[in-house]
Amino acid sequence: SSYPSAARDDDYSEGVPFAMPSSYQSGYMSIEKQRQSLPIYKQQNSLLYLVENTSTTIVIGETGSGKTTQIPQYLVKAGWADGNQLIACTQPRRIAVQTVAARVAEEMHVNLGLEVGYSIRFEEISTPGVTKIKYLTDGVLIREMMEDPLLTKYSVIMVDEAHERSVSTDMLLGLLKKIQRRRPELRLIIASATIQATSIAAFFDNSKQRQLVDKDKSLPSRKPAILSVEGRSHTVLIHYVEEPVDDYLRAAVSTTLLIHKMEPSGDILVFLTGQDDVDAALQLISDEAENGSEGIFVLPLYAGLPRSDQELVFSPAPRGKRKIIVSTNIAETSVTLEGIVYVVDTGFSKQRFYNPIADVEALVVAPISRASAQQRAGRAGRVRPGKCFRLYTEDFFMHEMQAEAVPEVRRSSLVSTILQLKALGIDNIMRFDWLASPPAETMVRALELLYAIGVLDSDAKLTSPLGLQIAELPLSCNHAGRLKLLIFSTMKEPMVAKMLLASAALGCSNEVLTISASLSVQSIWVSGKGRLKEFDEARERFAAAEGDLITYLNVYEAFLASKKSAQWCHQNCINFQAMKQVLDIRAQLSRLLQRLGIPLKSSGKEIQAIQKAVASGFFVNASQLEVSAEGDLYKTVRGGLKISIHPSSVLFRATPKWVVFKSVMLTDRHYMREVTAIDPAWLTEIAPHFFQCRK
Ligand code: ADP
Ligand code: MG
Repeated sequence: SSYPSAARDDDYSEGVPFAMPSSYQSGYMSIEKQRQSLPIYKQQNSLLYLVENTSTTIVIGETGSGKTTQIPQYLVKAGWADGNQLIACTQPRRIAVQTVAARVAEEMHVNLGLEVGYSIRFEEISTPGVTKIKYLTDGVLIREMMEDPLLTKYSVIMVDEAHERSVSTDMLLGLLKKIQRRRPELRLIIASATIQATSIAAFFDNSKQRQLVDKDKSLPSRKPAILSVEGRSHTVLIHYVEEPVDDYLRAAVSTTLLIHKMEPSGDILVFLTGQDDVDAALQLISDEAENGSEGIFVLPLYAGLPRSDQELVFSPAPRGKRKIIVSTNIAETSVTLEGIVYVVDTGFSKQRFYNPIADVEALVVAPISRASAQQRAGRAGRVRPGKCFRLYTEDFFMHEMQAEAVPEVRRSSLVSTILQLKALGIDNIMRFDWLASPPAETMVRALELLYAIGVLDSDAKLTSPLGLQIAELPLSCNHAGRLKLLIFSTMKEPMVAKMLLASAALGCSNEVLTISASLSVQSIWVSGKGRLKEFDEARERFAAAEGDLITYLNVYEAFLASKKSAQWCHQNCINFQAMKQVLDIRAQLSRLLQRLGIPLKSSGKEIQAIQKAVASGFFVNASQLEVSAEGDLYKTVRGGLKISIHPSSVLFRATPKWVVFKSVMLTDRHYMREVTAIDPAWLTEIAPHFFQCRK
């Protein structure tokens, strides 16, 4: 084999130097000592042996055991990144990619971007020829297949956090299984925090498959191996509430303050559902802790968090203070926080749900699974025995919560997923090998929609010049086709890409570029509940009668006029980091348009052209106002769903007759977000095939 053998025992004979009394002292431990104290350290040789000898190694180990940060380093040390290939490690979340890469660079004493790099959508921090370990989102690795279908750059690909079962993780697993058939020497490591390894092992079991190269003894075994990393967590005492709580946010805040008052030192981790919740809780905690707040140091943790705030979360609290981290689901398994002793679990998270009948995908605040609840509780036992306060009853835990979450492919719209598969040359979408197959209706709906926006033809083939795949994987594709694909895959959402491409003919690509970039960041607003009034006023200042997308344009222009001032952003409840991202993404998209030969044109004061471009992208979400006894409700053209404008929209009070929206949120009812007013006459013009058949 061209690969080095696993290191022999005596290379690593130091072993664990001493039993860890409590890693609370980790601040005093050298990084090297800390690394050696991790559970995975003892398994280093077994791991390297398995990677050497089997195609697929499944590693199970609880959060904090060292899977993400250590395994790639062991692989480098064993020579897997010698030569021209490197090691990839995927994460479902961008924020995990960034923090983990930074941590590993620190452990290896190198600058981030050299030996250790990372890649997330719109941001590639690595150096070809130098980088040996690359952390990246699963989505970005899938995108890399457009250029390098067999991912030949990589000797080992580690798919991390597989237990999360995100759509892109599942899709990646299916694609990697395909790649493995063509590249039997490729090693896969699938890492998971929970023990559902058997289904993954069965999925990757190629041992029964006949293959000519079987005789080649240098190839690894095609039967997957499973390695369990023994945990070292402490006991966590679970408390339940006696009666269901009606306001989980307030309950979380009062429980947190009670812990602070009653319990000995140790940091607190609070699980909420989204950025709005987190901001609101932060405000409530600081309001209510007025007198006692000297002793606490409260920090938010969510996906769109600015870089500087991310660093605070991972560094120790100021001397004598108790750190309180208010987080979304992110802290469940994807990032490791030191020093947590108390967990407050509201029992909810924001989840995607797709209804193929009404054809809407909505974000819903819904109960987590028992497996998630256990993960959350586990975060309290990292450094010493801890406590978890569940804000739901024991009865609810036992009888109402599902044992495990339903994989995301079974509860999402698959429009962008199917487009990506098509772009990768996978023609028979229905026969794609999924770990858990999505509902057939969902696939059909996605195909219908891709046909409606003109990406697929009536044979469900990519329309020219998007098409032109010659093999199962597109080894060649003409240049223009490739670029157009790049736009679609870059934008992730095909509807945004459609809008951008449509803007060229409408003479407003300059404006729509800004809108597309603004739609690609988490949120340009900072909406802390404590600043609600201020926030409303700020939004009023930029509000456009045509809707939220045009409002983004106003914000962007005012931001440029402020000379990109951070202070200006703060005064206007705008997220400065997000605006910098908008600038950056805009520049990247603009280069893409140039390469495509689409000139940048500005429509000036002519807003209608922009609205038309928006309608061209989002026409499938067209909705008509219906005045009824229940108040102003809209009905979607596709699916006939009754839906309201979300209060966060600038059109909340305006209620234009016809609108298109970008996304749906489901709470007490369906709400549309990011809404734009349109003229219904455009619809038949933009998509005659789509609207005529429905009249
Ligand atoms: P796993 O992937 O198994 O959940 P990780 O490799 O993420 O575990 O973490 C292993 C250890 O590395 C943690 O227990 C923690 O001590 C340390 N660690 C990880 N990330 C950071 C970070 N950003 N800052 C400080 N320490 C970290
Ligand atoms: Mg991890």
